[in-house]
Amino acid sequence: MAAGSAIQIPSRLPLLLTHESVLLPGSTMRTSVDSPRNMQLVRSRLLKGTSLRSTIIGVIPNTSDPTSDCDDLPNLHRIGTAALAVQVVGSNWPKPHYTLLVTGLCRFQILQLLKEKPYPVAEVQQLDRLEQFTNGHKSEEELGELSEQFYKYAVQLVEMLDMSVPAVAKLRRLLDNLPREALPDILTSIIRTTNQEKLQILDAVRLEERFKMTIPLLVRQIEGLKLLQKTRKSKQDDDKRAAGIRPSRRITHGSITEDEEEEEDHDDVVMLEKKIRTSSMSEQALKVCLKEIKRLKKMPQSMPEYALTRNYLELMVELPWNKSTKDRLEIRAARIVLDNDHYAMEKLKKRVLEYLAVRQLKNNLKGPILCFVGPPGVGKTSVGRSIAKTLGREFHRIALGGVCDQSDIRGHRRTYVGSMPGRIINGLKTVGVNNPVFLLDEVDKLAKSLQGDPAAALLEVLDPEQNHSFTDHYLNVAFDLSQVLFIATANTTATIPPALLDRMEVIQVPGYTQEEKIEIAHRHLIPKQLEQHGLTPQQIQIPQVTTLGIITRYTREAGVRALDRKLGAICRAVAVKVAEGQHKEAKPDRAEVGEGEDCKEHVTEDGKAESINDTADLALPPEMPILIDFHALKDILGPPMYDMEVSERLSQPGVAIGLAWTPLGGEIMFVEASRMDGEGQLTLTGQLGDVMKESAHLAISWLRSNAKRYQLTNASGSFDLLDNTDIHLHFPAGAVTKDGPSAGVTIVTCLASLFSGRLVCSDVAMTGEITLRGLVLPVGGIKDKVLAAHRAGLKRIIIPQRNEKDLEEIAVHVRQDLTFVLAGCLEEVLNAAFDGGFAVKARHEHLNSKL
Ligand code: ADP
Repeated sequence: MAAGSAIQIPSRLPLLLTHESVLLPGSTMRTSVDSPRNMQLVRSRLLKGTSLRSTIIGVIPNTSDPTSDCDDLPNLHRIGTAALAVQVVGSNWPKPHYTLLVTGLCRFQILQLLKEKPYPVAEVQQLDRLEQFTNGHKSEEELGELSEQFYKYAVQLVEMLDMSVPAVAKLRRLLDNLPREALPDILTSIIRTTNQEKLQILDAVRLEERFKMTIPLLVRQIEGLKLLQKTRKSKQDDDKRAAGIRPSRRITHGSITEDEEEEEDHDDVVMLEKKIRTSSMSEQALKVCLKEIKRLKKMPQSMPEYALTRNYLELMVELPWNKSTKDRLEIRAARIVLDNDHYAMEKLKKRVLEYLAVRQLKNNLKGPILCFVGPPGVGKTSVGRSIAKTLGREFHRIALGGVCDQSDIRGHRRTYVGSMPGRIINGLKTVGVNNPVFLLDEVDKLAKSLQGDPAAALLEVLDPEQNHSFTDHYLNVAFDLSQVLFIATANTTATIPPALLDRMEVIQVPGYTQEEKIEIAHRHLIPKQLEQHGLTPQQIQIPQVTTLGIITRYTREAGVRALDRKLGAICRAVAVKVAEGQHKEAKPDRAEVGEGEDCKEHVTEDGKAESINDTADLALPPEMPILIDFHALKDILGPPMYDMEVSERLSQPGVAIGLAWTPLGGEIMFVEASRMDGEGQLTLTGQLGDVMKESAHLAISWLRSNAKRYQLTNASGSFDLLDNTDIHLHFPAGAVTKDGPSAGVTIVTCLASLFSGRLVCSDVAMTGEITLRGLVLPVGGIKDKVLAAHRAGLKRIIIPQRNEKDLEEIAVHVRQDLTFVLAGCLEEVLNAAFDGGFAVKARHEHLNSKL
């Protein structure tokens, strides 16, 4: 046993009063000093003193210094630790204070307090580490057994720790080199103990007593550690470091003086290295990581690059290099999931099932990327989620709307301040597996900018030939994306860059008919909303006729998102009523609805929401469920937003209804024309694109050349329609830019109405491109347009003859409600658009001229 570590402390010691922690001989602690007496002690003793003796102070535990130096001293703890002040650091923020670093030397007891101000000084008696003790006054044999037992436990404890951590290795060596009687104090200060326990150890002046008291603490720590390791092992994580036992203080018996924080950090780096080595990253990535960790070890942690490199390495460890979920694909189950989650969408579901079936037969399909194209709220995203569910894969949505920087996809290089990985790698980190379903939402809204073209970056991601070695700029090593299932969604294919479109198989998801919407609402949206609002069908009842009312009067959309929102608003309102324990009393003047069944009949018979008024005078609804009828609807949602305005607007000549396709679905569009005296100018308003303007010119030219034939005249009776006449064409409805050739027939009809003074039939809508010779050419988006016309309650639709094949895609019940006129030339269009046809008055004249 090493002897000769005897210390002699002065017989008078200035006292530092502490209460937050207990300093034991042989250990070091940092303590903050801000009370008047303690500050005074630091100032006059430690900062002014010159000799080594002047830096020895008595640290009294468990005694707080009064906040004012006028106050009396409290009772001092009987035993203190003589300590060497190793470091004093002063600071003025947030208030003046010193931070002391003190190292415990030995125990002492206070014999007499000599003075209290400006700081307490006492006559003391040293209690241990005196000459006679260290010279073996107390026979070793007496303590032999106890100290041997203690030593064994201490060794057992230290060996349970990770010996590759330098601090632990050092501790192990210390156990052998230090005198045994110093061990209880030192170990108590480094294992997890309370201040109270430390105080007891400090008070245990007799060595035997100290050994006896410390052994149970050691055993407790060992048991705790064992338990921790057991749970860790089950998680395959052998991180022993955080077991709460590690040298948290500097131990001064001459040998340990390293900075504690640095060691701690070093531990982390070692752990990180271990994680890197045990992770399943690719060889190339491992090489890069090991190189980086080598650099990290040499780097002072104050360097900004230190944090950067650490973040990088932590991301590399977290990435799912080899972690994947197991596909559980069963086509029959997939069909059920898709059917359960979504009503209608037959074509889409069929194609998705085909896609999944091929995947089942041929694993690792390098097939096309599915791209769902359709208006908002038709369920594109939610089908993507269902696909992930059927495959048992993780789902992650990457919103691409407005992304204009390619580093959003591919990450920033690490040299860049604030650099980070792109969305793909980030997504992988989030889901934690390498085979999720990624939904690339809104690929049509990618934008280009000076920061490069994100679409080009996406190309690399989506190309099965390239994506097995996708290199994110931040990672700078290849990551295999070939297991990821990509699905894209878009509102229109028009703005998807052609190269990207080429990689994808477009599946059109058209809007819903009113009937489909009602079904979707009752099967999916209402139950979902009820659940979200904590309501039950016993509390609220929304009859189908009300749903139809919401669809026709409060929403005008191809999808069901606004409908969902409105239902949410209703549920909120009802939730308040239910919570209040009452619901709206029936108004005496209002018509009440009887039962849901009744209402349904009304819908199917009349198809009109107004029919509900006929059911007046039925019995008042019972207290619960709260029945949502039209009055309730009006109360909750306000007055209807859309009225059946069609017939009103077609009450004068010069108005016709066209059908337009927008990325939000089909729409009906009123085209208005007026004429006035002028010089033959054509004015077009309503945010039109170039193609549309051309259509207007074409229409006028055709009408001018056929004016005689149809007896069309201007205000002064001339067949030259533009003679002394200006024409103004307007396309109302919103600030949306409209373009495309399909308004041609509508413009012709509208102008024909203007010049003939006849009204266009109020239930006819039309679409079709025209030529100068009066032919009607096919156009796109027929299905969406027909649905829009159906939504608006129109009955007859004029479409180009060559679009006849598109009608097959339209649901039978919609087709049954409508009459289609297939027009090959403008004459047929005009005949269908006007009641009683648009007679060619001068046919014989025309023939005459030929003769
Ligand atoms: P999109 O991605 O096409 O804009 P979402 O997938 O976000 O639309 O759908 C909006 C909401 O409408 C979702 O809550 C979805 O569940 C619901 N929804 C849309 N179509 C259907 C359907 N056919 N059956 C059931 N719910 C649907």
